[in-house]
Amino acid sequence: MFSASLALAMTMAMVSAASDGTVRINGKDYVPAVGCQMSVDDRAGVYNLVLGGRHCTLAPGFDVALVDGRAVNMDGTVLFRDGEMLVPAGIFALSGVTHCVPDDGSIPLRKVILDPGHGGQDSGALGPTRIREKDVTLSVALRLKTLLEAKGVEVVITRTGDTYIPLLDRSSQANKSGADLFLSIHCNGAPTGEASGAETFALTWSITDVTRAQKAAARLAPDDVVDGASCHVSRGAEQAIFSAYLSEQRRQSLDLARAIQGEMVRQLGEEDRGVKVKNLSVLRETYVPAALAEIGFITHRDTEAKMRSAAWRQKIAEALAAGLGRYARGEVERVGHIAGSVPVSSTTRTRQVAGR
Ligand SMILES: [Zn+2]
Repeated sequence: MFSASLALAMTMAMVSAASDGTVRINGKDYVPAVGCQMSVDDRAGVYNLVLGGRHCTLAPGFDVALVDGRAVNMDGTVLFRDGEMLVPAGIFALSGVTHCVPDDGSIPLRKVILDPGHGGQDSGALGPTRIREKDVTLSVALRLKTLLEAKGVEVVITRTGDTYIPLLDRSSQANKSGADLFLSIHCNGAPTGEASGAETFALTWSITDVTRAQKAAARLAPDDVVDGASCHVSRGAEQAIFSAYLSEQRRQSLDLARAIQGEMVRQLGEEDRGVKVKNLSVLRETYVPAALAEIGFITHRDTEAKMRSAAWRQKIAEALAAGLGRYARGEVERVGHIAGSVPVSSTTRTRQVAGR
């Protein structure tokens, strides 16, 4: 068996295993990295390979790779067997998919996870006539689910009924879902009845990607041995690659928040309270592009009256669907100012997420 230390000691090695074709291990397909150019970064503990003309960075024990600078979830980790490196076939499939996407910054949106805020014993904010936030968010999320499914998008939802779901469970569902993005839906509340308008949150800049990566790497410990193939873990490698992944995820999250905010303002005529950044658990602990929409103030008498109406809930769902579509097409959002200090240059970069 190929040890991690031996592997990391190699520099500019040519992998010359004789195997051809796909290897199936534990229900997943792997492709031997045969004859490809490879170098090993000892310090970071990552492998740099050229696969099919694409520059890939892989970290043993971690299922996110960078392909031409983009984070790609391979749905599996690199394995070693009989001195041969096995790369999850997902990396090739995704390379093929992204290759077909027109070079206009669009994003293949295959799967979405929706998170209706609150539920069960947690009613969320209450309106002047006691309408409950948890009921409004669920109704809007279910309507949005129907709209997205009609467009061929697979939808996962954190709750389908009036049940209490802890915040970490919501993120954990998102991280396991393989979704392209996570959208949490909430109603705003204020002590006075005057506050109104819509706003959308992305994760605060005060939580660094390195901090999140360390936490994520500690949480996502893979199995050490899978069906006779070993899966070596290097914490440093995981953190390095995950930190890069999270930086990309952060940019995408901000684009997502802006797209949603823009459509809420445009389609509903809501007062634009802007895109804001905040240290919210569901955004901090979720590793797919994530945003939280505050669809209006339930504590505002007029807004509460609208929230009571099925037509308005449908309209909100349509606005959110339009926002997701806008994000998926990579359209730059100009409505929805960003509050707080956000490095604007990085948010306007063209970006692409690998769909799963
Ligand atoms: Zn809420």
